[in-house]
Amino acid sequence: GTAVVLEDVRKTYELAEPVHALDGVTLEVSRGSYTAIMGPSGSGKSTLMNLVGCLDTPTEGRVVVDGQDVTTLDGRERTDLRGTQVGFVFQTFNLMPRLTALENVALPQLFQGVGRGERRERARELLERVGLADRADHLPSELSGGQRQRVALARALVNEPAIVLADEPSGNLDTETEADVLDLFAEFHDAGTTLVVVTHERHVAERAERIVHLLDGTIERIEKLESTGEPTSPP
Ligand code: ADP
Ligand code: ADP
Repeated sequence: GTAVVLEDVRKTYELAEPVHALDGVTLEVSRGSYTAIMGPSGSGKSTLMNLVGCLDTPTEGRVVVDGQDVTTLDGRERTDLRGTQVGFVFQTFNLMPRLTALENVALPQLFQGVGRGERRERARELLERVGLADRADHLPSELSGGQRQRVALARALVNEPAIVLADEPSGNLDTETEADVLDLFAEFHDAGTTLVVVTHERHVAERAERIVHLLDGTIERIEKLESTGEPTSPP
């Protein structure tokens, strides 16, 4: 099956001169796949992520998320689709500073109308899967960068979304912590999670099954990798 399909997608920003942020992108993200997006600054990575994440709609073309054509939905329906089918992981973690790790992970379910007991139980399960069961009651400020990103990943996964989008997920982490977080991504990929990661870092992208190279708003090429889930050996 397919988690996300983009069909000849164009996104134009009408400035003094129109900016073609995406200029005819066709891409399929199958369920359980692991995709990296690379490209120079201004090549359209953020725009692509915003479309796949139902944060925005294309100027032309279709975006289909979990079988639903996003372009036919109104704002409210798009928000619902995003809340249930997309998990976000950011470079800066974006955790709520006054909520504990457990409360942060539980939060997305609140908007899905899940009851308190079930929310906490499910959040606890996810924290366990990311190895942070013993940090459930800590505030983000009491956690290391790697631990914060693991909380963010647990939060992204708590609603069992069709796809998890990560924007430079290890950009703020040191090398060792980065490796831990990427190992965790690989673990979730092995367990069936669909992952799309935007990164400037070749070694981060190489953990995926393929790298989509963007250039000037188009797909320059798609590089297939022999994904072993293992980090590539140093040169
Ligand atoms: P990155 O370095 O992660 O690719 P950018 O600095 O290109 O990020 O963009 C960050 C955010 O700013 C994006 O969400 C993008 O939509 C927005 N953005 C980028 N360029 C412009 C612009 N010229 N006008 C308004 N918003 C922009
Ligand atoms: P990347 O993430 O690869 O840096 P972006 O998707 O942020 O690329 O930007 C692609 C192009 O679209 C750039 O020329 C950028 O300036 C422009 N752009 C992005 N977002 C906006 C926006 N909100 N308003 C106007 N121009 C934008």
